[in-house]
Amino acid sequence: MGGFALEGRPSGTPPRPPAESAPSPGDPLARPWAHPAPTVAAELGADLEAGLDEDEAAARLTRFGPNELVERGRTPAWRLFLGQFTNAMIVVLLAAAAITVLLGDTKDTVVILAIVVLNGVIGFVQEYRAEAAMAALRRLTSPLATVVRNGIQRAVPAGTVVPGDVVLLEAGAVVPADLRLVEARALRINEAALTGESIPAEKTTEPLPEVDEALLAERRNMAFAGTAVTYGRGRGVVVATGMATALGRIAGLVAAHAAGRTPLQERLSTLGKSLAAIALAVCGLVFGLGVARGERPEVMFLTAVSLAVAAIPEGLPAVVTIALALGARRMAARRALVRRLPAVETLGSVTVICSDKTGTLTTNEMVVERVWTPAGTFSVEGAGYRPEGRFVPEPTGGAAEAVDRLVAAGAACNDASLVPPTRPGGPWSLTGDPTEAALLALAGKRGIGREALLRQRPRIEEITFDPDRRRMATFHRTDLGVWVAVKGALEAIAPDLAPGQEGILADARRAETAFAADGYRVLALAERHLDRLPDRLDEGERCLALLGLVALADPPRPAAPAAVAACRGAGIRPIMITGDHPVTARAIAARIGLLDPVPDGDPRGGSGGEGADGDRSIMTGEELGRLPDAAFAERVGDVVVYARTSPEQKLRIVTAWQGRGAVVAMTGDGVNDAPALRAADIGVAMGITGTEVAKEAADMVLADDDFATIVAAVEEGRRIYDNIRRFVRYLLTTNSAEIWVMVLAPLLGLPIPLFAIQILWINLVTDGLPALALGVEPAEPDVMRRPPRPRGESILGRGLWRHALVVGLLMAGVTLAIQASAIAQGWHWQTMVFTTLALLQLGQALAVRSERASTFSLGWRSNLPLTAAIVGTLAVQLGLVYLPALQPIFETEALGPIELALVLAASTTAFVAVEIEKAYFRWQARRQHPLGRPERID
Ligand code: ATP
Repeated sequence: MGGFALEGRPSGTPPRPPAESAPSPGDPLARPWAHPAPTVAAELGADLEAGLDEDEAAARLTRFGPNELVERGRTPAWRLFLGQFTNAMIVVLLAAAAITVLLGDTKDTVVILAIVVLNGVIGFVQEYRAEAAMAALRRLTSPLATVVRNGIQRAVPAGTVVPGDVVLLEAGAVVPADLRLVEARALRINEAALTGESIPAEKTTEPLPEVDEALLAERRNMAFAGTAVTYGRGRGVVVATGMATALGRIAGLVAAHAAGRTPLQERLSTLGKSLAAIALAVCGLVFGLGVARGERPEVMFLTAVSLAVAAIPEGLPAVVTIALALGARRMAARRALVRRLPAVETLGSVTVICSDKTGTLTTNEMVVERVWTPAGTFSVEGAGYRPEGRFVPEPTGGAAEAVDRLVAAGAACNDASLVPPTRPGGPWSLTGDPTEAALLALAGKRGIGREALLRQRPRIEEITFDPDRRRMATFHRTDLGVWVAVKGALEAIAPDLAPGQEGILADARRAETAFAADGYRVLALAERHLDRLPDRLDEGERCLALLGLVALADPPRPAAPAAVAACRGAGIRPIMITGDHPVTARAIAARIGLLDPVPDGDPRGGSGGEGADGDRSIMTGEELGRLPDAAFAERVGDVVVYARTSPEQKLRIVTAWQGRGAVVAMTGDGVNDAPALRAADIGVAMGITGTEVAKEAADMVLADDDFATIVAAVEEGRRIYDNIRRFVRYLLTTNSAEIWVMVLAPLLGLPIPLFAIQILWINLVTDGLPALALGVEPAEPDVMRRPPRPRGESILGRGLWRHALVVGLLMAGVTLAIQASAIAQGWHWQTMVFTTLALLQLGQALAVRSERASTFSLGWRSNLPLTAAIVGTLAVQLGLVYLPALQPIFETEALGPIELALVLAASTTAFVAVEIEKAYFRWQARRQHPLGRPERID
């Protein structure tokens, strides 16, 4: 729930106040843990089965307010606006305006004030847009909660949960509000966020009347807002929301921490400070030189202050925020939701993308296409989750019985459900895990429905799926005792098979390898019959009878091969990490171009599980587990596919790559993925299949779970970084030009070249529209064909500093040459200087559109705002020169044709020079990389 202000009013107290002021031991709402859950629920007017009805929930939401730690209210617009005028330099300028009043120079006063206000308006519009973009992003990534309303289970935004709601919890959920638990099945919750205790607390439902108010950790029948479910399942009734929760109360106590600045903003703000110091010194110098030349001190004071205002890039950090926030909005349009602003910046420098296979590189639309039983192998027809289709060949006799036992176990050991089409002939959909839904569809094809099965054999216990154990078991009551249905990876089940099945197991292994080599995801099914429920559940999972295997097709996403190729071209290493079988992983990797295809008959494809043998590009979790960190650090650069890994191992992969200086993006969906997501430079959570815990740990959430979306976000990140560099380059060059002009003129014996008002105007042109328009420059065509920028590269790196000083000096040189010759010719030198410097800047805006490519190759249409800004500014500048009404204000005079021609010609020099510089760079690059390929990183 980051991003919310911590101060504020309690927003969601239970229907009756929790009587914090006068706790009465008998009040179930004051001490819900001390009373039986039904009593608490009754007090809250909650039906534990059907939940609240929607109308009541809506009424309570209005009454108690949203379930939020009161959000740091958006800064009111008027404060944003006034904030624009608190900048120290603006204050000095206002003081200068006051001085002009004293001098009786009302014209100057009015113009200065107008310019200050205009500056403020531009700054305000920029910041307002950035704030709005950030608020929209926060709404997009707000967490969800599962509640029961009107008897139906549904996911709602956690902010809309109200007291009395019945909330369902399962591994990976973040508890949305304070709950009194009604049901807890092996429920474990990590309460570190609240208590600092990192070992998950085991939860119960019994009343705990003896537990004291103060002992949060001992209220084991409660689940607290903001804590994370790590295991099991539960159900609870909401007793407090928002600021009334335990988290809300703590949040109210600790100080709100300042909105974090991104590393780039930090660096730019430091840069801005040093530049300000330099600029101030220079302005002092200009003032001194002017006065020494005999100018009036008050005029020189105004000039120096205006120069300071113009030269200090006070807007830099704000502009970067805007670029990042607007960039985040564009990423959202491409289905990548950024949760933390710095991620936008980091994305551009990603060098390694570690991605889950299932659902990210593949479609996660599972269909069982093959079935193996000891009695034979069958193909299964039918598409999608429609529970209709034939087995080929049609199983008969003993084979039919074997198949039915297998599919029944698959349907029983299952938490998914199939949803019939909403229109005739439409596709079936699912809720829950696609792997499990595919098993339901398979059972349906044999006429076995889950509901009917569970009516006959009700589920009494379960051991939920755990990606570390790679298996799941359910326990069902039957007429004869207890039936245990187990499914999971074959090698996870093999050690627990009853003796005497060695032959069957060997056959199954062969079948598994053959299926996997075809890219199928393979699951084994097993069962056991017991007299009664064992004391310890896991004892019931032993001595199993292997029923057979199912082969699930999970084809690669259509966009995956292109995205993998795009990564390669961009110097980014794509890496697949999966819990699946190495042979399956290899086959899928080959299909999307991560690995070369295995030639037919290659023994590597059939080594019975350890596909990694002899192939350094595949590593299994087991092998990784054996390697010490140092040895793994040696190998990590070779491995492209990790198979049969556990989520915990992702952390080692991240750290090993980071140890080599890589900038790592890592995907994840489960609760165990959270540490790796946090450790990665960019943690990427799945928006559809991801748990709330994974989303909270992530920097970015993929709305469509698609690998290609990560690559699109990287491209967007690179573009934004390029645009920030463009902006900085433009700003520094033009500011340095202004400073050079003002310092060098007196040193060269020339009069002070610009009036204060003209300086302020040029500053407005510089910081104004053209600069803003540079922020929306489209991605350069080669943005994904060059290597990532090195980690920690300064924004001023790659010659930007030098460029700013040298090109600034060139612009100043041209301006001063115009000044000197115009004075000698007796022309309108002041207007010529003013116009030349302003137009030179427009030329520079055009030239910096690309660091390498010629501006002519970009076309004026590809950045229409910039074209419009340049044309508009040019027109206004000519207006300042030729409109009699404006002339006295800006101290201009109409230029003659020769004067104008000279000014226009001089104004193109910077543009031409920068184009020549770029052409030189292109020539140099072609010499170094004749094929235009970026360097590979390892
Ligand atoms: P990825 O890490 O790419 O998402 P994955 O989805 O295959 O890969 P897991 O979900 O951790 O990884 O699954 C690992 C293995 O656990 C699977 O190969 C399968 O053998 C087994 N498995 C997966 N889902 C289930 C399930 N619902 N019940 C039982 N076993 C399962």
